This record gives sequence, structure tokens and C-alpha cells, in this order.
Amino acid sequence: MNNTKSGPKFKLILILAAVVLAVGGYFLLRDTDPPALSLLPNVGRVSPDTVLTLKAEDLGLGLKDLEVRLVQKGKRTGLLAKDFAQGEIRFSTDLTLSGTEILEGPFEIEIEARDRSLYPLGQAGRSRLVRNLVLDATPPRISVESGQHNLNQGGSGLVVYKSDEDLGRTGVLVGERFFPGYRQTGDKDQNRVYACLFAMPYDTPPAEFNPRIVARDLAGNERLRAIPVHANARAFRLSKINVSDQFLEQKMPEFRKFFPNAPSLLDVFLKVNRELRVENRARLKEIGLDTSPTPMWEGPFLRLPNSATMAGFGDRREYLSQGKMIDEQTHLGIDLASVKNAPIPAANNGMVVHTGYLGIYGDALIIDHGLGLQSLYAHLSETAVNNGDNVSQGQIIGRTGVSGLAGGDHLHFGILVSGLPVQPREWWDATWMRNNVDGKLGR
Ligand SMILES: [Zn+2]
Repeated sequence: MNNTKSGPKFKLILILAAVVLAVGGYFLLRDTDPPALSLLPNVGRVSPDTVLTLKAEDLGLGLKDLEVRLVQKGKRTGLLAKDFAQGEIRFSTDLTLSGTEILEGPFEIEIEARDRSLYPLGQAGRSRLVRNLVLDATPPRISVESGQHNLNQGGSGLVVYKSDEDLGRTGVLVGERFFPGYRQTGDKDQNRVYACLFAMPYDTPPAEFNPRIVARDLAGNERLRAIPVHANARAFRLSKINVSDQFLEQKMPEFRKFFPNAPSLLDVFLKVNRELRVENRARLKEIGLDTSPTPMWEGPFLRLPNSATMAGFGDRREYLSQGKMIDEQTHLGIDLASVKNAPIPAANNGMVVHTGYLGIYGDALIIDHGLGLQSLYAHLSETAVNNGDNVSQGQIIGRTGVSGLAGGDHLHFGILVSGLPVQPREWWDATWMRNNVDGKLGR
């Protein structure tokens, strides 16, 4: 008797097969979420070199395939087609339009992806993402509106320029240094006028000084344009400073907390003079970005009244200990000494953007005057204003003192252009200001 087909063994096989199908089917069908797609940037203007980052993800059964197409004026072109043999869960790639036939103007980018769930069972496993972008392949056109850029080594300059389109990052590049430019309000859309205060850094001789306007449009196309300048060399003084034991014992305890492991007070001093100085100057650069896009100053800046100049801007300082040179730095402000705890007037109208301890500068104040121009008051014994206060020229903002790296009571007065210290004397000089700054701004 052939009993096999109806025997219990066969029934068991049938049941097992049904279970395997059910379980397998469940695993194939349970992936009810289609792939997640994203594209960045996904709006606005792009250049041929703009990197478009595409991401696809399917946490269920994984990705099956993906296609990217560009659509312009009804014409479709493929940009990428990909099959995922391994059923990858995640896929990410960077795309650009360079080498494609997309013309300047609007276009669509269309992304489609499928996951590995069973087909054809509706659209559950399929995703589509469409984004509208605009291709802009032309860098902005820049015209320099201001004439006569005469700069002194360590000094400041202003350039006014127009752009034929809206700009993202713009300003003046001097070597590695970047000075942001600011769009002037009140100008009409067709007249995109930008003003940029920049500097001929104290450490840049005329032969190496090649300032260039950098203008990047909203798509990322960049134009570099040289500024015609007349650059004057300046010689800076050499001064020698004796670092006495008395000075170390008096001043270094204040700085001990920054360098607890320095073996001696002299080591603390060297670390303060080198490392802390670099750190504090980097902070000035950050504060320099906290500025009004339009000028707030009125006329020349004030100098601390009835004061003697104790040290100049750009002084090269050699530090001596027991007759030996132990360090070398450049002094980037003007030291003014008056009576002890002398009241300090605000050098010009502006807004307080820093109050408080600032390393070598001790208790310090920074006033923003707009366009990245700021004045710094260091070694104070007292501060009479708060962050965010608007101050007017002549208003008493604090008192001189000895805080920070100061041997005796004085004011270290600095002028900063986007955080870079520049020669303050120019800003005390009404004629210089008219010819080089205010005249160009039409003020
Ligand atoms: Zn100083």
C-alpha cells in the first residue's frame, strides 16, 4: 500500500512549508516604510560646483535601487543610477552639476528609490523626492566705487564697492586675513553697495600687501578683485623691557590659575606673554564680528585727556631677564598714562560689546563703532558700563588701573578692525578720517 502521500509525515511537511512561507512572507512584507530620501541644499541658487548631498535610507529590508534625474524645460537627463546588490540600509553621495547639460536658470532634481519589499504590491516600497533649484554659474560683477586707497603699514583703509547681485560672504582678503564687508542700508536693490574696513597689517610690508575684494554670490560663485592701493612702509620702535623679580612677584599670582604647572614665576610669565596673548588676540577676532553693519562713529576719536604716551603701536618689545633676552612681542596699542584711576571717556559713539576680564588686557572694555571698527580699553580698575549699552563720545566708561599684564597704572588703548589691532593715531586725526574713511562713505 502506498501510504506516503496521505501519511502524517507528509502533513508535517505541508505544515512546515506553510510556516516557512508565512514567516518569509511576513519578513518580505513587513517593510511598510518606503526609503527616506533627503537632499541638501534643497532650495535656492546653486553653482556648478555646489556639492549636493543625497542621502537614502531604508531601515526595513534595505535599498533596492535609486535614480537621480535632472529636468529642465521638459528635458530629462539621468545624473545617477544605482543598484544595491547587498540591500544596503544607508546610501550617501555627493553630486555636482559640473559636466551636465543644465543651463543657467531653474531646474528640477528628481530622486527615486525603491526598497526590497515585494513587488508589485502598490507603491509602499517606493519614494520620490523632487526639488526646485536655480543654476547660477556667473560670479558677481564688482565695481570699486572708492578711489585713492592710501594705507600705512599697521594702518586702516576703507573700500566701497558695488555688486550686480546679492552676496553671501564678502569682504577683503589680505594674505590669510579676512575683513568682512557690510552692505549699506538705505541703498536700493539695484545698487548693492558694500563698505569694508580693512587693514595693512603691522607685520605686512608693502611688497607683500595685495588686498583683494572677495565676493561670493548666493550660489557660491566667487569673484576676486584686486584693490589698487598705495602702501607706505612704517618703521616701528624697538623697546626693551626688564622683567624684574619684583614685577613677577607682583603680577604673576593673577595668572597662576591659567598655568598651574609652570615651574617658576618666570615660566608663568613666558606662557602668559606667548600663549595667553595669542588666545586673547583670537578672542578679539571673535568679538570683532559682533558689529553694526553701518557706522556709528561721528568724527575723530578721543584720546585719553592729559595723558602721556608711554608706548606706541607696533613697538617691538624685547623682554630681558638678568640681562638676557627671554622673549619678543609686538605691542599693538598705545599706552597712555595719566593720574592713578583716571576717568576714561568713550573714544566715540558706539555700543559696548565686551566688559570683563580678558587675560593680558586685565579688566577690559570694547566698544563697537560699526563696520568691524572697535576700540579697546585695557588694564581698567573700574568699569562704568554694561554689555549692550549705547555710549556717546566723551561719556565716562571706566577708570585706568593695573589689571592684566600692566606694570603701572595706565590705559592700553587699542583700535581694532575686525579684531586686528591697527594704529590708533589715524583715528585721532580729523584730516586722515575725512580723506580715508568718512569722505568715501559720503558722511
Ligand atoms: Zn599696552
